[in-house]
Amino acid sequence: MAWDFETDPEYQKKLDWVDAFVREECEPLDLAFPGRQFEPLDDTLRKIVNPLKEEVRRQGLWATHLGPELGGQGFGQLKLALLNEILGRSQWAPIVFGCQAPDTGNAEIIAHFGTPEQKEKYLQPLLDGEIFSCYSMTEPQGGADPTQFTCRAVKEGDQWVINGWKYFSSNAKTASFFIVMVVTNPDVSPYRGMSMFLVPADTPGINIVRNVGLFGEPINEGAHALVHYEDVRVPESALLGGEGQAFAIAQTRLGGGRIHHAMRTIGLAKKALDMMCERALSRRTAGSLLAEKQFVQGMIADSYAQLMQFRLFVLYTAWEIDKYQDYKRVRKDIATAKIIMPTVLHDIAWRAMQIHGALGTTNEMPFFQMIHGAGVMGLADGPTEVHKMTVAKQVLRDHRPHDGMWPSEWLPAKQEAARARYAQYLEHEVGNL
Ligand SMILES: Cc1cc2nc3c(=O)[nH]c(=O)nc-3n(C[C@H](O)[C@H](O)[C@H](O)COP(=O)(O)OP(=O)(O)OC[C@H]3O[C@@H](n4cnc5c(N)ncnc54)[C@H](O)[C@@H]3O)c2cc1C
Repeated sequence: MAWDFETDPEYQKKLDWVDAFVREECEPLDLAFPGRQFEPLDDTLRKIVNPLKEEVRRQGLWATHLGPELGGQGFGQLKLALLNEILGRSQWAPIVFGCQAPDTGNAEIIAHFGTPEQKEKYLQPLLDGEIFSCYSMTEPQGGADPTQFTCRAVKEGDQWVINGWKYFSSNAKTASFFIVMVVTNPDVSPYRGMSMFLVPADTPGINIVRNVGLFGEPINEGAHALVHYEDVRVPESALLGGEGQAFAIAQTRLGGGRIHHAMRTIGLAKKALDMMCERALSRRTAGSLLAEKQFVQGMIADSYAQLMQFRLFVLYTAWEIDKYQDYKRVRKDIATAKIIMPTVLHDIAWRAMQIHGALGTTNEMPFFQMIHGAGVMGLADGPTEVHKMTVAKQVLRDHRPHDGMWPSEWLPAKQEAARARYAQYLEHEVGNL
């Protein structure tokens, strides 16, 4: 009987340390240096942030998403989930712990598919927290559907020449290198005709046309770039994995990235629930505390129920990844966690905002940021609708059609069969009447 919902006491001690550290050391960075977590550290920030990273290393909690051979701790996904659900409270915390998106996913694919030279050049500094990376896949005309991608690399001598557009390439402006997914063979199925390249950010021809901002950020000062690749020349050695391997690599990357977002989202939703409860216990109106009003109790109970279902499902999915070591095999559940995530965060943050009254809607409370974050979670790494199709297809694989006019569970037929089976006893019963 191996089901177990208890955290090993030694690791729990570490998690307790993380909880206090994130509240005391990382959350203040969110307020004092908002939105600067993906910028290279200047002298001031280096003085503040490097000792925190050192402390995390001393605790053996640096870059826990990768195995020891790659400079991580090799904790696996379940332990990472328990850690990430705490880090999710703060924007700076993943940076301080060396496990921030999109760098974790990027590090993972270089670790899996990179040559020793590529690992030395890109992976090591990424793991050391010295540089940032950019995953450049989405295109303006073909976001959720990679079969529409047109950004192209053509072989010229011993070089590949990249031309085309990419959109929403997060952190392009601060990244040291880009992982670019491009068409290398338009004559075969897109699933075999695309490849990935590792491209240093200072390669001539990489033009950041716009730095698209999210809601609340100044226009053109955001982190999600529209990039025009114009005659960008890279050597053959820039190819990540084999030619035509981009789809398989993308699945590895996005599988990990999606579940890591879900882990962090638990932390953010929990923060909203904590704030909701604190307010309900502190605010008195119409003769009683908000916490004593049944509508408010309903909101708290609904939020707790949603959060717990989500949390247990994410932990279960993380456990599955550790068990099977195969993202493809766990694809259905990763997609399911991805589907649930925006709704859980949206609903809990929305209720927390409502319970805070007018104050909840202001820029003096973080609820709208969370609600906007829920919207982002429904799109980044693929829209909810596409993931629903994935889940439905996988669920349907375990089912078969039934011949005939009536479904297999049609009661009259089942009842007739059951009665025929027990006819002897049923006749006896009738005879006894
Ligand atoms: C904050 C943020 C960061 C991101 N970072 C990156 C990054 O670093 N690198 C990168 O490459 N990309 C990144 N993306 C892009 C992200 O992967 C795309 O937004 C996503 O794939 C959807 O593409 P799209 O926005 O063009 O939407 P579209 O493809 O235009 O889809 C729009 C809507 O149409 C519907 N729809 C689409 N397809 C289907 C379908 N098959 N069936 C039913 N309905 C459908 C859905 O409602 C969907 O929301 C990021 C996005 C966000 C929001």
